[in-house]
Amino acid sequence: MDRIEHRGCYAGRQAAFAGASGLGLLLAFGVAVLSGCASENRETTGPGADPYAVTSSQRRTFAWPDGKRGAVSLTFDDARLSQADVGLPLLDSYGVRATFYVSPGSLQKRLPTWKQAVTDGHEIGNHSLRHPCTGNFPFAREKALEDYTLEQMERELEEANEVIETALGIRPATFAYPCGQKFVGRGRHLKSYVPLVAEMFLAGRGWMDEAANDPAFCDPAQLLGMELDGLDFDQAKKLIDAAIENGAWLVFAGHEIGDGGRQTTRIDTLKAICEYAQNPDSGLWLDTVANIGAYVRAAQ
Ligand SMILES: [Zn+2]
Repeated sequence: MDRIEHRGCYAGRQAAFAGASGLGLLLAFGVAVLSGCASENRETTGPGADPYAVTSSQRRTFAWPDGKRGAVSLTFDDARLSQADVGLPLLDSYGVRATFYVSPGSLQKRLPTWKQAVTDGHEIGNHSLRHPCTGNFPFAREKALEDYTLEQMERELEEANEVIETALGIRPATFAYPCGQKFVGRGRHLKSYVPLVAEMFLAGRGWMDEAANDPAFCDPAQLLGMELDGLDFDQAKKLIDAAIENGAWLVFAGHEIGDGGRQTTRIDTLKAICEYAQNPDSGLWLDTVANIGAYVRAAQ
């Protein structure tokens, strides 16, 4: 029933976009109302209701390609050695392409592997030159975002692009905010560096966010990124299934790839996600941030 309703909503909106005349818009609105777009929101009412739940009236059918119903990107940060040693062979065995937001220093430690990853269709993205984060992290005190300027950030993002281009022969299309933090400066002088990322990249990914992206609404310059580290497959599958149900784009973010431990995406979870995506009935488009991001931006 839900599906019939939101297909109707989408058809209504398409007609609204296509209709050049006021009459066309009126007809489109009528179609939308008749098909359930204006149906009452029942799922967020009542005691104990989840205010974050997507209701049938809010759910939209985005026109994903090839009959897909939702999208997932697997992304991994910092060019950790386990990504090259364990992750890439695993992903390649399933023909799954992922996005790696590399730190220039670590990149050099497995350079031939990363070159091969590019050849195999994986995406290599920019993750800054020095990984600046808030100085509240001791590791970042000497490169604290609180002490940065936009000019310095721009110079360093450009330099990171150049390091990657020199090493791998490709120019990064997308970016991941180190620590998911998107500011420079502090207090009244704080500035967002999202506009800079919007200017330089197709997309920018956050970290430790709490939702998937609505492809019709999201700002590609600050995509929500959800933690994959530590999840078992049941936990990951719940998020994936919710994305498919809502026509959303779930961007997973992880670090190490191994059997367990701190900031580690579990091998068994990763295998199960790849297997799940291989089932054509899943309706899932599993691809890089650049590939899905380009599609989403064109559709917006
Ligand atoms: Zn990082």
